[in-house]
Amino acid sequence: MTTSAPEPDCLFCLIVAGEVPATIVARTENVVAFEDINPSAPMHVLVVPTTHHGDVSQLAAAAPDVLAELVGVAEQVAGERADGQFRLIFNSGPHAGQTVFHVHAHVLGGTQLGALVG
Ligand code: 5GP
Repeated sequence: MTTSAPEPDCLFCLIVAGEVPATIVARTENVVAFEDINPSAPMHVLVVPTTHHGDVSQLAAAAPDVLAELVGVAEQVAGERADGQFRLIFNSGPHAGQTVFHVHAHVLGGTQLGALVG
């Protein structure tokens, strides 16, 4: 579903609202970044829009400026918490591994990451 209204049962809407605790590492007008609860790398931060969109395609269609802001926050976080280099992953759909249906970028880094393909 594409909507900007908070979803009452959405975990990341609740984190954005401060109703579920998380370690917030950056916040702008439209974006919140917080540590992943189960990190896959020394730096594993999730960056989400404050508005609810199901996946990255829906965010890109509804608010491309917010998607660009999200990428900028990812870059900022990687500069502060790692060496400025990072892998950005958007899982889109259950077959891609998406489990939380509020768009989020995984920002991974702080180590030499292995190749995903090739
Ligand atoms: P997905 O599988 O949807 O791409 O990513 C969801 C991510 O959310 C996972 O990496 C998972 O560890 C993280 N996660 C799930 N529940 C929580 C939570 O309550 N707090 C935080 N900070 N991260 C969570």
